[in-house]
Amino acid sequence: MNILFISPEVFPFAKTGGLADVIGALPEAIAKKGHTSSIILPYYQLVKKNGFKPSVFKKNISLRIDNREELFNLLLLKHNGVDVYFIEKNEYYNREFLYGTPQGDYFDNAFRFGFYAKAILASIPHIGKQDILHCNDWQSGLVPLYIKTHYQNNPIFNKTKVLFTIHNMAYQGLFVKDVVPYLDISWDLFNLSGVEFWDKLSFMKAGIVFSDAISTVSKGYSKEILTAEFGFGLDGLLRAKEKDLYGIINGVDYSVWSPSVDKFIAEKYDEKDLGGKAACKKDLAEAFEIKYNAKRPLIAMITRLAEQKGIDLVVNMMTDILKDSDFVILGFGDEKYNNIFQELAKKYKGKVGVSVKFDNALSHKIEAGADMFLMPSRYEPCGLNQMYSLKYATVPIVRAVGGLDDTIQNFNPATKKGNGFKFKDATNEALLGSIKEAVAIFKNKKLWDELLKNCVLCDYSWESSAEQYLKLYKNL
Ligand code: ADP
Repeated sequence: MNILFISPEVFPFAKTGGLADVIGALPEAIAKKGHTSSIILPYYQLVKKNGFKPSVFKKNISLRIDNREELFNLLLLKHNGVDVYFIEKNEYYNREFLYGTPQGDYFDNAFRFGFYAKAILASIPHIGKQDILHCNDWQSGLVPLYIKTHYQNNPIFNKTKVLFTIHNMAYQGLFVKDVVPYLDISWDLFNLSGVEFWDKLSFMKAGIVFSDAISTVSKGYSKEILTAEFGFGLDGLLRAKEKDLYGIINGVDYSVWSPSVDKFIAEKYDEKDLGGKAACKKDLAEAFEIKYNAKRPLIAMITRLAEQKGIDLVVNMMTDILKDSDFVILGFGDEKYNNIFQELAKKYKGKVGVSVKFDNALSHKIEAGADMFLMPSRYEPCGLNQMYSLKYATVPIVRAVGGLDDTIQNFNPATKKGNGFKFKDATNEALLGSIKEAVAIFKNKKLWDELLKNCVLCDYSWESSAEQYLKLYKNL
């Protein structure tokens, strides 16, 4: 099969979150199984900053949008057996960030990602016919709409099937309805069964309505999004499409996230010998100017600073958390939380370490150096860091939602089964309760070692998830 992955971010070219890691790994896993995988994303400034120089594949491809002709260049980079295409349109993508600044989204995102969809469809005749277009998140939502409307009878697309994967229900790509005609979307589609959402245009809804199948990134989340609590207003539509909705858990790229090969950490280690972890903890403590203490747990977070991640609970309980442990966080996002955490670092100097930026190397140091990894998310479609943490013998403490609930089982000291700690309610008390449980086990070296053994033996490689995607593509 020929499969084209459509994703607004891809590791290692441009990343803001988990989606980039997924599309950085899944296409390669599919290619290894004998299929042709390609990826297409915008040519952001970040791609250049990250040191990639794709070559020109086709210059001045033309497309029509809003009754005018627009040109763009299609660039190509061959990367680990996968053709990675970039859409070069500097006025839209040559900016500091991918989607917006810490103050808010870019004002013209509807046009940036409307253009992205049109440019992909204009590129496919040059790239070659595709069996599957695997779209990801709202930024790709107009691709299935254009295929099912403008390109319905085009021989290049009439056998192409579209899978739309939702990595986060909360980000829907909602825009004022005035943009509808400028994006060449017919007003006939602007209704309840089409792309309208409370009088706005919804890119996510376009993706759901016009795709041949929909998936999300864990079984748990695929059930949760059918409820009002997690469906963000689209639960009714998803219930109506339930027979075409699948849940496939993300995998981990262990060639990137494994302490035995990790080039960013102070000392390598593996599941048979965790000895190197002590040096990594020292190195991490130093990086965050925290007093190193082998006997005191170091709790860590790496996260977008957004309400979703439950960081308000952590802020509320910081004084209590610090009674028995130290805390480090690498995060970037809402300006409000960027400031709150920087204040906390000042207030608790030597016990709290804060880094407000996006830093890939530091995120590896944290995975290796911390004793525990905290993810108190209000909702979590899959979550990757809890799975990375397991491999690094860094014990996850998570809220029992979505993919976190699917991948983490509470440690039971009596049976010695379980790979972490999890709590049900999104409350200060429940969070602290779980942390206290973890700290108590940490102090019992024998039990802690048993727990670490369980963690490092967990296997979330892409192998099985890639098989599930292939089965789904074939069914389509
Ligand atoms: P989400 O996609 O909702 O942000 P995930 O847990 O699925 O959450 O994936 C987050 C990914 O982004 C992980 O690879 C994590 O290490 C990375 N990440 C998040 N924030 C930062 C940051 N400030 N610096 C470096 N990496 C980060």
